[in-house]
Amino acid sequence: MTKTALVTGGSRGIGRACALELAAAGCNVAITYAGNDAKAQETVAELEKLGVKAKAYKFDVKDKEAAVAAIEEIHKEFETIDILVNNAGITRDNLIIRMSDEEWESVINTNLTGVFNVTKPVCKIMMKQRQGAIVNMSSIVGISGNAGQSNYSAAKAGLIGFTKSLAKELASRNIRVNAVAPGFIQTDMTAGLDAEAVAQHIPLKRLGQPEDIAKTVKFLAIDGTYITAQVLGVDGGLSI
Ligand code: NAP
Repeated sequence: MTKTALVTGGSRGIGRACALELAAAGCNVAITYAGNDAKAQETVAELEKLGVKAKAYKFDVKDKEAAVAAIEEIHKEFETIDILVNNAGITRDNLIIRMSDEEWESVINTNLTGVFNVTKPVCKIMMKQRQGAIVNMSSIVGISGNAGQSNYSAAKAGLIGFTKSLAKELASRNIRVNAVAPGFIQTDMTAGLDAEAVAQHIPLKRLGQPEDIAKTVKFLAIDGTYITAQVLGVDGGLSI
């Protein structure tokens, strides 16, 4: 039976690449996004070119009611949700002494509470189906930390604990839960970095591309049928 994948933040960057990779593997795909309608529609058109059913849903993952309503709508439209990729995320970098409450809260509420808001209603569906796979987008800095990113690192480290706890909770229902910890990936999020300078510090001597992450997400979501509770670093060796 055709699987349905739900990719949050699937309109751009890593999420878009994940959506395309899962579509290429034959999944119907629901993508979500926060505000950029043009990008979302562009991605839907590309997904449809791969011959699968695709739709975009606009809601802020920080808004619990909106998330619950959207997931109900997605479930009605697609009938199943077999794969959830919790990818939507933001950065609001600052040193701790300068970090505003807004910078702290927006990152924690989007990158950590936003994942809870989406995962809870999806879990109910997956538990009834007695099968599913969840992949959470953490980060290398959730493991190693990073000066100027205490909010982001805290959220991404939180996701690792969330992943392992959920994996234990849901294993008996045949639901696998894993995380990916990307290093530097070339997207809008990292557009401000000097790519050449950053690449010098990476053993593979290049930044990652969204497709590098997407292949790993597809592996964990579809091929890794005996893998759960794992955090897979995809960072060109940066964490060595
Ligand atoms: P990106 O290019 O900035 O794309 C972010 C996506 O998330 C967009 O689709 C955006 O929607 C959506 N989004 C943002 N805030 C949202 C909200 N409040 N509610 C719903 N959707 C929201 O980011 P990216 O670089 O692909 O990153 C994707 C994920 O990978 C993030 O979780 C990020 O933390 C993680 N990651 C990235 C890197 C990297 O180097 N790029 C490294 C490690 C981890 P709109 O288009 O509508 O704004």
